[in-house]
Amino acid sequence: MTVAVALFTQDLRLHDNPVLHTAARTADQVVPLFVLDPDVAAVGFAAPNRQAFLADCLTDLDGSLRRIGSRLVLRHGDPAEHTARVATETGADTVHVAAGVSAFARRRETRLRRLLGGRLHVHDAVLTVLPPGQITPVGRDHYTVFTPYHRAWEQAPRRTVHGPPQHLQTPDGIAGTQPPTARPHSPALPPGGERAAREQWRRWDIDDYADLHNDLAADATSRLSPYLHFGCLSAGELTARALKHGGQGAAAFVRQLAWRDFHHQLLAARPQAAHRDHRSRDGHWHRDEREAEDWRNGRTGYPIVDAGMRQLQHEGWMHNRARLITASFLTKTLHHDWREGAAHFLRLLVDGDLANNQLNWQWVAGTGTDTRPNRVLNPLRQADRYDPDGTYVRRWVPELAHLPGTLVHRPWLLAPDYPAPLVAPENLTARLRTARALA
Ligand code: FAD
Repeated sequence: MTVAVALFTQDLRLHDNPVLHTAARTADQVVPLFVLDPDVAAVGFAAPNRQAFLADCLTDLDGSLRRIGSRLVLRHGDPAEHTARVATETGADTVHVAAGVSAFARRRETRLRRLLGGRLHVHDAVLTVLPPGQITPVGRDHYTVFTPYHRAWEQAPRRTVHGPPQHLQTPDGIAGTQPPTARPHSPALPPGGERAAREQWRRWDIDDYADLHNDLAADATSRLSPYLHFGCLSAGELTARALKHGGQGAAAFVRQLAWRDFHHQLLAARPQAAHRDHRSRDGHWHRDEREAEDWRNGRTGYPIVDAGMRQLQHEGWMHNRARLITASFLTKTLHHDWREGAAHFLRLLVDGDLANNQLNWQWVAGTGTDTRPNRVLNPLRQADRYDPDGTYVRRWVPELAHLPGTLVHRPWLLAPDYPAPLVAPENLTARLRTARALA
């Protein structure tokens, strides 16, 4: 009787999971294992929204495994030590795990290898469509510009998509703890888990995506990001399904999945980009805690910025266009350090992801991979363009709902009780010009 351990990390699913698939194919019995690592909290990454979502994911995964004759073994402590212990207890000859990209995941993998040696099997292309390093430009180990990356990504061979295992046998008597419970910060957090993920994928209309993904009020993006972050859905399966569906919406959606891969391969090659400027910039960042506090609380006086920040508080999620506008406001209108904004996003985002969050923040701040680092987003122009009748602002800033038309974007003209703009509208252009010069 052969036994394999399938160690889940950011791949909390049964469908298209090479870790579980290989364990099930190559051993008579499989131990599905998840280890709650206290170091995640110690490094400040265990934000309440993500902890609550993770608790849902683990309960859902356990339920799905039970339906096929197995269960999730849950432990609390050092993942490498617990995995080695479970392998010894069950006489497992192999342990399967997904390759990660962050420095944290790499350290876990090194510790696992030290304890398990040749019994450890690390699987690529579990968290992303293509594994970091599969495509590289001549003479370099990673891409730093998206367009050539995307061109190569589209042509690259991809692994086969696996179905879920139909039956899994698990040894009896392995001790484990109960799934955790956690209180989210945001009252309207989406439910976690693979079933919720697949329901959201079925509900969402991909055909509208090309036309509406930038329309703030339409809310027409997939909202799959938390499920992709925790691996409740496989990016590879989504890509294959979208390409099969075809059309402009699907093509635009797949391009976003390529952006996700792009950031993952960059972080894998340069883990320090999570904290350090990818590209240096002239000039010092401005520090002002009261301004930062107003930005975090959605009280900057610019309703389009405030709406985004309030959506983040309420849902633990924000529309991509609003992320761009709010991040640009902090870094290029207020000239604050991108790390300040990235940390706040990571405290609240249910999809908060080191690769996507830090590298998108750097992109907006002009320290990242944008080939036009001095690009600036004027919050008023963005508001008029992406929320032309003010519906998004009225949804999130109800105290301005009475203002007619696009005046909702300019409360200083008609709503004297609304917070005064942190940067007077007549000084906005000059501020943005300075940001352009500093980038
Ligand atoms: P859709 O538009 O439906 O896109 C589908 C998927 O593609 C997303 O779920 C996501 O996995 C991926 N994707 C989309 N846009 C990007 C992008 N620009 N970069 C990388 N992947 C992308 N995304 C995160 O997953 N986690 C983060 O922590 C995060 N922080 C961000 C911070 C800033 C300042 C900005 C500008 C963007 C950030 N993004 C982040 C990227 C993007 O905003 C979200 O992925 C997207 O809004 C999620 O909504 P959706 O699932 O409806 O996306």
